[in-house]
Amino acid sequence: MRTRTGTVFTGVNLDAYLGRMAVCAEAVALGRAVIDLGSDGIDTIVAVRHPPPEAKDQTVAVVSPCGACRELIFDYDRNARVIVPNGKSPAVVAIAELLPNKYTRGPER
Ligand SMILES: [Zn+2]
Repeated sequence: MRTRTGTVFTGVNLDAYLGRMAVCAEAVALGRAVIDLGSDGIDTIVAVRHPPPEAKDQTVAVVSPCGACRELIFDYDRNARVIVPNGKSPAVVAIAELLPNKYTRGPER
């Protein structure tokens, strides 16, 4: 994740025995940024999946953020850009494009 001022933070997916307790790497990276810089905004964020160490193909793949992370990214910077899979060449999209009909607490618009 790159902040609006250009600092790069990495995160790691924290798996858990109880699946719902797992924490995505995006949230870890964002937490590190908030600790170090406060609210600095998100310029661009990307999640990748590394293959298991025993896999023959060690290609790292860009993956889309899960729904919860999409909400989190939007909450911290509604203008964030997200790198997503797009065939052979990943694409950059606005977080809002990944959240059509985003949940809101107020009246529906
Ligand atoms: Zn996630």
